[in-house]
Amino acid sequence: TRIPLIAGNWKMFKTGPEAVDTATHLAQACADVQNKDIMIAPTYVCLPLVATAIADTSLHLGAQNLHFEKQGAFTGEISADMLAAAGVEYVIIGHSERRQYFFETDETVNKKILAAVSNRLKPILCIGETLAQREAGNTFLTLDKQVADGLKSVDPERLQDLVIAYEPVWAIGTGETAGPEQVETVHRFLRTLVDTKISSDLARTVRIIYGGSVKPDNIATLMCIEDVDGVLVGGASLDARIFTQIVKYD
Ligand code: 13P
Repeated sequence: TRIPLIAGNWKMFKTGPEAVDTATHLAQACADVQNKDIMIAPTYVCLPLVATAIADTSLHLGAQNLHFEKQGAFTGEISADMLAAAGVEYVIIGHSERRQYFFETDETVNKKILAAVSNRLKPILCIGETLAQREAGNTFLTLDKQVADGLKSVDPERLQDLVIAYEPVWAIGTGETAGPEQVETVHRFLRTLVDTKISSDLARTVRIIYGGSVKPDNIATLMCIEDVDGVLVGGASLDARIFTQIVKYD
């Protein structure tokens, strides 16, 4: 059985003190939550502070990005083992904003996945079609390529903690959520893809989560969908009270 993952991507929001404050309130409000993994991904500079703040709580810590090299002259970058040493457990890889604004490609995403699994970080591989790709009928082709190229030559044994986040680009920050049928169809397609291209064992255990304008009022509908194993929340994860409503949906 797959434990649902409710993940918050804080993007470029919150100073250190603000991040600690939100994390602390969230940990308190969610202290009684069982059988769900709750993860927050603050900015790099907040990671050690938040790691300390949530050390004795049930919250899990994630980073929003990493560099694929071990170390070296790569000004401004952070490596997988630096994240691991800072107490990070998950790492978001290939978010559409990184692909769009920072020119990440399936090739760099693949290198980042390899770097993450080599350091025992749990990768959250983000994929998703743009509106243009969906309207051209290329949704499945796009997702197939993002998964196949993103996970190329990664030993399936090392993908046991893989999470796939399906985030249709047109649903991010727009208030527009993919309809339940759209989400169901894509998530089923993705699980089948993992089954045929990687392994049946992984297809059974891999968590496939949805992202894109997740809010307290649509979480229950999304979580009811068969192959939805959780959500990746942007805007609605920034407020501890609102994010708690999402975590505690019923
Ligand atoms: P929103 O929830 O703000 O649409 O962002 C989704 C997202 O990009 C999470 O990674």
